[in-house]
Amino acid sequence: MLDYVQLEADLSDEERLIQQSARDFVENEVKPDIAEHYIEGTFPKELIPEMGEMGFYAPNLEGYGLPNVSEKAYGLLMQELEAGDSGLRSMASVQGALVMYPIHAYGSEEQKDEWLPKLGTGEAVGCFGLTEPEHGSNPSAMETHAERDGDEYVLNGAKTWITNSPISDVAVVWGRDRSAEDNPVRGFLVETDRDGVTTNKLDEKLSLRASITGEIGLNDVRVPEENVLPGVEGMKGPLSCLTQARYGIAWGALGAARDAFEEARQYSKDRDQFGGPIARFQLQQGKLAEMATQFTLGQLLVHRLADLKERGDLRPQHVSMAKRNNVDVARDIARTSRGMLGGNGITADYSPMRHMANLETVYTYEGTHDIHSLILGQDLTGIAAFE
Ligand SMILES: Cc1cc2nc3c(=O)[nH]c(=O)nc-3n(C[C@H](O)[C@H](O)[C@H](O)COP(=O)(O)OP(=O)(O)OC[C@H]3O[C@@H](n4cnc5c(N)ncnc54)[C@H](O)[C@@H]3O)c2cc1C
Repeated sequence: MLDYVQLEADLSDEERLIQQSARDFVENEVKPDIAEHYIEGTFPKELIPEMGEMGFYAPNLEGYGLPNVSEKAYGLLMQELEAGDSGLRSMASVQGALVMYPIHAYGSEEQKDEWLPKLGTGEAVGCFGLTEPEHGSNPSAMETHAERDGDEYVLNGAKTWITNSPISDVAVVWGRDRSAEDNPVRGFLVETDRDGVTTNKLDEKLSLRASITGEIGLNDVRVPEENVLPGVEGMKGPLSCLTQARYGIAWGALGAARDAFEEARQYSKDRDQFGGPIARFQLQQGKLAEMATQFTLGQLLVHRLADLKERGDLRPQHVSMAKRNNVDVARDIARTSRGMLGGNGITADYSPMRHMANLETVYTYEGTHDIHSLILGQDLTGIAAFE
């Protein structure tokens, strides 16, 4: 596996173990069937509890049966999962960083006791409802709202593009509390079997096909006030979760890139044209050199981010830089690798085109490439250019 400047030499034993066990899991449990799932538009649901058993959901959190591994170990895990498929990493990212993290960071003791153990084992599945049909890049304009009625809240609204919503037991729904002054954004834990909740599946995706995506419809849904996340108010709630997930994506996207690169490297040595392997052509070597270099630069960035996160110095803007760069690099690597495989490259027998199509979603979700440019632009100049 590509590790050109020996970053792996500095891993701790625990980090190496987690990397290897995730790599073996992907090799044995994911790769054999993933192309079929991709074609069928299904997620390998039988892997959900298995991934829980392996400790793949929020292993960087502490307590409630969670192992509190290093931030680098968590990143390496995301990378190995995405080397299998971005849909697999998305499942673990949503469950861990977007559902378990807010409950862990902002939930009551009762909420933590109820949900964290079973989300950690995969006995329960969660989803994160922020995006709405009319509000994607600007979620603060959300229309979903809650009104207090006695000791309950009544929720109304619609969320869309929600990973896992059709198979979720609980949704972390972000909405405005219309009963409070200034209508702050609050997080609500909404069990999906409550009256008035619908979770229609979105079909006909041409990207991230091995991942279940749906809507969340909320029609006069009543939740007790105990279901509100007590520890956070305002956009800081959802945005802090996104920072956690984007950190994992910055690592993960390079996993897809590495898998595509390795496929192209091997193919170029196996495929003969004009009397020998295509790897002997300078044009092909130039592509491999560029891909390996960009991959390595992306790796250096996320390894550095892990250190900053560990010591509490990581800023959301650092994560924006890494998400923006590494997904872009991965997208280019997947496309170049696809080209190097010629006609075979457009089939599901090889991974690059699947990764290439998946990375279109990764480029768009969790803040589009453009939005991360604007976040960096604001940080660098002090001038916001969002409006
Ligand atoms: C497969 C998939 C899974 C997803 N999973 C989830 C999930 O689990 N939970 C969830 O809440 N959301 C999820 N999303 C939603 C995702 O986060 C949004 O699609 C994303 O934030 C972009 O919003 P939008 O699609 O409405 O695009 P828009 O915001 O309408 O953007 C359209 C285009 O305009 C550009 N643009 C927007 N604003 C500006 C600006 N100010 N300046 C310059 N350009 C701008 C964008 O970069 C983009 O190119 C998922 C999306 C997909 C595709």
